[in-house]
Amino acid sequence: MIAPIYKPELSLRISVTDRCQLRCRYCMPAEGVPFCEHDEIITFEEIKDFVAQLQVAYDVHKVRLTGGDPLTRKGIVDLVAMLSELGLQDLAMTTNAQRLARMAAPLRAAGLDRVNISLDTLEPGTFEHITRSDSVDATVAGIDAALEADLRPVKLNMVVMRGINDHNVHDVLTFALKRGCELRFLELMPIGYGADLFEKRFVPTETVHRMLTPAFELTSYPRAAGSSAQRYAVHATDGVEGVAGFISPCSDQFCFDCSRLRLTAGGRLMGCLAREEGHDIRSMLQGEPGAPLLTAVRQALGCKRAGVHFKQSVSMAAIGG
Ligand code: SAM
Ligand code: SF4
Repeated sequence: MIAPIYKPELSLRISVTDRCQLRCRYCMPAEGVPFCEHDEIITFEEIKDFVAQLQVAYDVHKVRLTGGDPLTRKGIVDLVAMLSELGLQDLAMTTNAQRLARMAAPLRAAGLDRVNISLDTLEPGTFEHITRSDSVDATVAGIDAALEADLRPVKLNMVVMRGINDHNVHDVLTFALKRGCELRFLELMPIGYGADLFEKRFVPTETVHRMLTPAFELTSYPRAAGSSAQRYAVHATDGVEGVAGFISPCSDQFCFDCSRLRLTAGGRLMGCLAREEGHDIRSMLQGEPGAPLLTAVRQALGCKRAGVHFKQSVSMAAIGG
């Protein structure tokens, strides 16, 4: 019997655009960032080609489309359809959901499996303060549309910031549990524009955990290999149940078994959010497939933070969160 060929697992995050209609304080300044020119943005064909070439040597089990906001990229439903032809186990998207109310059903039909949605608060004023847009209703409508379209599990991301939205952790968790969404509390990272807020606003996971009890009982699940989240079964005192997670890149690094790679909107392959090193992969996609790209992948995988402090001046929107 011929033994099956072992392929190491890879998870890809692809920033399909560095543009976004929101201006979250930890991600972009009010005036926006210098965006890539249109002809510098990686094309759909290049993205598909990149994933397909990696599948030859790796088990690319997860592809997440992100940005900027992926729903602002023209033709995003077509890209989802193109990638779904590659037979991936898990095709996901991270979005602010501002445009999801009308796009959830077409995305699902095109082959998207699930979504993660940013929701830092439900308070209109706090939402406007964080995102510089008075559009929390659009995000909530997007969450409901995702549930309706079965883009499940729908996960919600909340970046907790001292004195800005840390008083909202109970409300956002209750909202998530009642809708059957998994809420993930994210630590603020000193990346790009987040670096300016970090000293004053950073809240460690341990503090959020303490704030949630005793209103919620949290029972930890074993950490899944390669996962960035520590997940908990949640029981609220009013009887509502569900799951929540904590992503703690600053207080509890999870680099040792990380197999995530990132492709920026401008076509740079990066091994880690916290490191600036990267390779331009566009030229490697032309000509004979294979060796140069796989060498770049190996180098990127060797470029994890592994205990070193964050060193990242590139904006989160360009890298793809
Ligand atoms: N626009 C989409 C969104 O907001 O969900 C996708 C891109 S966004 C860069 C991806 C995730 O990164 C979001 O959940 C956002 O809250 C998070 N994020 C951005 N900057 C961050 C920072 N400095 N620290 C922690 N999380 C950050
Ligand atoms: Fe846009 Fe997402 Fe950045 Fe907010 S975090 S500005 S929604 S890309």
